[in-house]
Amino acid sequence: MFLIFGNPVSHSKSPLMHNYFFKKSNIKECYGRYKLENGEEIIDKFKELKIKGANVTVPHKEHAFKLADEVRGIAKEIGAVNTLVEENGKVIGYNTDAPGFLEAVKEFEYESVLIIGAGGTAKALSLVFPNAHILNRSEGRLQYFRNKGLKSFTWDEFKTNSYDLIINTTSAGLSDDNYPAPQNILKELFSKAKYAVDVIYGKETPFLKLAKQYNLKTKTGLDMLVYQGVLAMELFLGKELDKKKTAEIYFEILR
Ligand code: NDP
Repeated sequence: MFLIFGNPVSHSKSPLMHNYFFKKSNIKECYGRYKLENGEEIIDKFKELKIKGANVTVPHKEHAFKLADEVRGIAKEIGAVNTLVEENGKVIGYNTDAPGFLEAVKEFEYESVLIIGAGGTAKALSLVFPNAHILNRSEGRLQYFRNKGLKSFTWDEFKTNSYDLIINTTSAGLSDDNYPAPQNILKELFSKAKYAVDVIYGKETPFLKLAKQYNLKTKTGLDMLVYQGVLAMELFLGKELDKKKTAEIYFEILR
C-alpha cells in the first residue's frame, strides 16, 4: 500500500497516476490519499499504517524532511521531502520534484537558464540548475539566491540577457491571466530563447502562449508532475524503470 499525505489532498493526481501504472504493469498494489492535519505526525502515521511508501505534498514537505529517519540525495540540500520509502523498518526521505523537472527537459539542448520566481520551487530548481540566473518581482526572496552566489535580479534591475531556457516557477497565470514578469521583458527574452517551461499544469498559461508566438518549444508543468512521479515509482519499487515508457503511461491517464 502506498499513499499521498497532504492537506488538502483531494486534488492530487498522484493516486490516479500511480494506480494506473500498477494496473498497466500488473503490479498488485494500490495507492490512496491521506489528509494529514498535523505534519508533525507524518512519520508516526507512515509507520502506524504500515505502508511501503508515500508521496508528500503541501504543506508537509518540510515536516517530512525534518522527521524522516534518514534523508538521501538532493532532498538534503533542498530541505524538503516529497517521497518516503520504507527500508528495513526505517522511513527514508527523498525529493524527486527538482530531479523530475530535469528529467522532463532532458531532450532540450540548452546552456543558459533563467528561472522566473524565487519561491520554494525556484529554490529547488536552482539546485539542479546551479548556474541559472533568477528574476523576481520583488527583492525579499532574492537574498537566499544571492547568498549562494547566484546572479539574481528584480524586474527593475534586470538587463535582458540571452538565455536558452526560461522557466516560470511563479503562480502567475495559475488562476489569473497574469504574466510572471512585464511583457516587454518576456518578449525580449523570448526573442532570444529556445525553450519556455512552466511549472503550472492543467492549463496553458499566458507565459507559454506568449512563448509560442515566438516559436519557442514549450512544456507545461505536467511533464514535471509526471517525471517526479516516475522517479518516485522507481524508489517505491526499488528498481530503475524505463523512464520514458513509464512517463508515457502516466501521460496516457493524465492527458
Ligand atoms: P511560492 O509561493 O513559494 O513562490 C511564489 C513566487 O511567485 C514568488 O517568487 C513570487 O514573487 C512570485 N509571484 C507570485 N505571484 C506573482 C505574480 N502575479 N507576478 C509575478 N511573480 C509572482 O510558490 P511555490 O514555489 O511553492 O509554487 C509556485 C508554483 O509551482 C505553483 O503554481 C505550484 O502549483 C507550482 N508547482 C508545480 C509542481 C509540478 O509538479 N508541476 C510542483 C511544485 C509546485 P514575490 O517574491 O515578489 O512575492
